[in-house]
Formats: sequence, C-alpha cells, structure tokens
Amino acid sequence: MGSYIEENSASPVKLPTIKFTKLFINGEFVDSVSGKTFETIDPRTGEVIARVAEGDKEDVDLAVKAARQAFDDGPWPRMTGAERGRIMMKYAALIDEHIEELAALDTIDAGKLFSGGKAVDIPNVAQLLRYYAGAADKIHGEVLKMSRELHGYTLREPIGVAGHIIPWNFPSSMFFMMSAPALAAGCTMIVKPAEQTPLSALFYGHLAKQAGMPDGVINVITGYGPTAGAALASHMDVDKVCFTGSTEVGRKIMQAAATSNLKQVSLELGGKSPLLIFDDADVDKAADLALLGILYNKGEICVASSRVFVQEGIYDEFVKKLKEKAKDWVVGDPFDPRSRLGPQVDKQQFDKILSYIEHGKREGASLLTGGKPVGKKGYFIEPTVFTDVKEDMMIATDEIFGPVMSLMKFKTIDEAIKKANNTKYGLAAGIVTKNLDVANTVSRSIRAGTIWINCYFAFDNDCSYGGYKMSGFGRHLGMEALHKFLQVKSVVTPIYNSPWL
Ligand code: NAD
Repeated sequence: MGSYIEENSASPVKLPTIKFTKLFINGEFVDSVSGKTFETIDPRTGEVIARVAEGDKEDVDLAVKAARQAFDDGPWPRMTGAERGRIMMKYAALIDEHIEELAALDTIDAGKLFSGGKAVDIPNVAQLLRYYAGAADKIHGEVLKMSRELHGYTLREPIGVAGHIIPWNFPSSMFFMMSAPALAAGCTMIVKPAEQTPLSALFYGHLAKQAGMPDGVINVITGYGPTAGAALASHMDVDKVCFTGSTEVGRKIMQAAATSNLKQVSLELGGKSPLLIFDDADVDKAADLALLGILYNKGEICVASSRVFVQEGIYDEFVKKLKEKAKDWVVGDPFDPRSRLGPQVDKQQFDKILSYIEHGKREGASLLTGGKPVGKKGYFIEPTVFTDVKEDMMIATDEIFGPVMSLMKFKTIDEAIKKANNTKYGLAAGIVTKNLDVANTVSRSIRAGTIWINCYFAFDNDCSYGGYKMSGFGRHLGMEALHKFLQVKSVVTPIYNSPWL
C-alpha cells in the first residue's frame, strides 16, 4: 500500500515544550475571564497536547478595548511607515530564529509535515512580514486636479481595529496573510485562531512583544467560533473583520457585520477547484501535478484541485500513471522525512472525509486507489482517487477538504470550460497544455480568482489570490491585501481666486 505509520515513533525531532497557553491581550498572557480552558489535540495520536485558555465574549471585549486604545491613542498608526517596517523586520528575524520550534508546533497541532513547515511555511511567513514591512513606507494617496479652482488630494489611512478569524489548515501562513498587511497599514488587531490550532498563534503574540510591537497592536484570543469568533464578528468597536474559513461560517460573519456596526468584511472561503489536462500534455508530469494538487497538506487546502478533468485522448494512460504514482505519496508520521501526508487535523475532519468516501462509493463512483484510514491511532487517510464520477455526485460538488480526487473526462475545450465552471465556488483552477491558444482561452473563461498554467500552488507574496462566486471576496497577498486595510480620505481646499474664497 506504500503507507505506514511509525509505531512508537522514535521521532528524530525533539517535540516542542508548550510555553504559551493563555490569551494574549494588551501585551500580556492572561487567563480567560471565565477561567475556562479547552484541549488541543495531537492528530497523530488523538491525545491531548495541552489545555488552552477558552476566550469568550468578555475576553474579546478586553482585547478589542486594548486594540482600540492602541489604535486611537497609541503610537502604531502614528509612527512613520519606516518605523513600523523596522519593527516588522525585527519580528520576521525573531520568527527565523524559531523556525524549528514553530514548525514543530504546527506539526503537533495540525498534523502538517515538519519538513514543509521548516522549509516552506515558517520561512515564508517571515518573508511575508518583510514584504509588507517594505510596503509600510510606500503608502500614499493621489493629488487631484479639480474643477472650480479646487486643490485636492487623497490620503490612505488605516481602517482601524481589525478582527482576524482564521482556519486551522495553515495556522502560521493564515495568521500572517491577514496580520502582516494590517500591520503595515497601521491597524491594530485581534486574531482568533481556529480552536484546533491555537499554539503557534500564541507564540506569535509572544514574538510580537519581543520585536517591540506596542502593547495592544496584536492580541490573540483562543477559543471557539460560535463564542469568541462570533463576538469578534459582531463587535461594535471592530472596524473590519477578515475571515478565512468555510462558506457557511462566512455567511454568518456577514450577517453579524450587517446587524452590528456595518463593519467592513472580507471573506476567503472554500473551493472545489478544477484542474484541466489537455491531450497534448506530458502525461507523466500532469499526473504528478494532479496528485500534488489534491494531496499537498493532505488535501486540507482551500485551492486543492479536487476535480480533475482529463481529455479523452490521454485519459486511459493518465489513469494508469495516477494509480502508479499515488503509491509514492506515503502516509505517516509528519515528523518522518519519508512521509508526504500526515494526519487530517482532527477526528471530525477525519470522519467527514471518510463519510464522503462512503457516499462516493454508494453513488456509484469507483475507487481507483485509497479510500481507507491508515493505522490504528490518529487521523490518517490514504490518498484517494475516484473514477466514474458524475458531475452531480456529492464528491464532485462539495468541498471535502481531504485527500480525495474526483477524476472526470472531457472531449472539447468548450466542454472543459463548462465543466470547470459548474460549481458554486471560484477560488482557483489549473490548466495543463502546451497550446498557448488553449491556455489563454481557458484562463479567460474560467470564473476563478487564480489560474495556474502548467503549474499548481505557484504562490508568491506579490501575487494576490482570492475568490470569485461563493469562494468569497477580498484578496490575500500582494498590494491588494494591503489595500483591504486602508481607506481613502479626500481632502479638498480652494486655491487662489477661487469662487469659494
Ligand atoms: P470554519 O469556517 O469552520 O472555521 C474558520 C474559523 O472560523 C475558525 O477560527 C472558527 O473558530 C471560526 N468560526 C466558526 N464558527 C464561527 C462563527 N459562528 N462566528 C465566527 N467565527 C466562527 O473553517 P475551517 O474548518 O477552520 O477551515 C476550513 C475551511 O476554510 C475550508 O472551507 C477552506 O476552503 C477554507 N479556507 C479558505 C482559504 C482561502 O484563502 N480562501 C484558506 C484556508 C481555508
């Protein structure tokens, strides 16, 4: 089966000591007002790692008060962009100094590959902070040449207090995709990490203080969505809420904003992204790309290519390759360098994925490979590929958020476009072809926020991504994300001899 779990894993990596388990408010680690805590679980074993403070409405109130004061009276929005950038650079350097510890925290909390955290996720968040640190002193408006003898200009000002509600699949990246542009803009913030993965977020609170970030600029409230998250989304003193997570909860966030203070909202939601592979593709490389697109981060990635459409001329050869190559995706302890898939984040996610697999079988799809749990403990699932999938089957319409691919066939370009767009989501899409006309035509025709041609997950700090349709609105990364945290003020004054004078 090509998969294993190291029993009694003599892990080559020293497991991290859990140093921070309390809420981080106004530069201090504090217990929750209620004194309540909740368990965070290691998905490799199902065992408890630590108990973490359970924030609720009262704690959110305290954190918002601190962020409000830091914004209204504190130095952060008033210092020069260069000074903010300098502190952000220091923050990035501190993250670099703790790469292994932070990567290990995300491994035990989220089941992510340690090697990936160490080489990609954590170094990238430091780099992301540097990217926005470099932008902090380049925020400016425009000079307006106006009619009626008026002189005008615009200022881009920070939006104020931001609430960041983040998911568990990339605990570190998600923390900074929202916080880094907000910091550069001069906002202050409250971060509510997912209840499954609170540990690295609290560590980032600690490092913010070490970096010299003024108290109240970053506050971290660990806790549950319907309590702490909902309190943040509906808070009257929060100016903007940025939510990354499921489409269902995104809807609740908008409702909360609408019925409280009409705060600005940006939503980065779910996906069911298509990968279109045309007849002229290199089948070997296309199979590798398709597996990467669905198995990276055990399928727990919003832009996963969970629907793969292959043109009929190469379909049979592609299926053969896919089956062979899926064996290389070893499931196992995420600390083991041989593993390519760790455990799903928690029991709920594990059960949900397995129930989709059972549903797919009942609906008449065929399992090309995988379909079962791996090992006796933890939440490991085999790389799973379904063939004979019909577009209206649940495995082809719903976001499963696991290592489950639905493989389908197409004949013509028009059919491929139609099938790719046959979804309520619009986060990303991939195209594999050597034909430039096909690549350009299909890119323009697919309603999604990112199109990758002959690559997948080709992220860059300077390249925004986000949703069309029910995948949300607002963008992560790039200058687009910085603008989410700025608002435009127009200043107008008469000039000499103006009728206004
Ligand atoms: P989720 O929606 O269940 O939870 C996300 C966050 O919202 C968590 O912090 C949770 O505590 C909080 N939350 C839950 N209920 C809430 C409520 N009523 N009010 C306020 N906050 C609440 O999502 P998840 O299961 O953590 O993450 C998986 C989802 O996230 C997938 O749909 C995935 O596609 C999406 N996602 C999207 C992107 C993107 O950039 N578009 C990135 C990563 C994940």
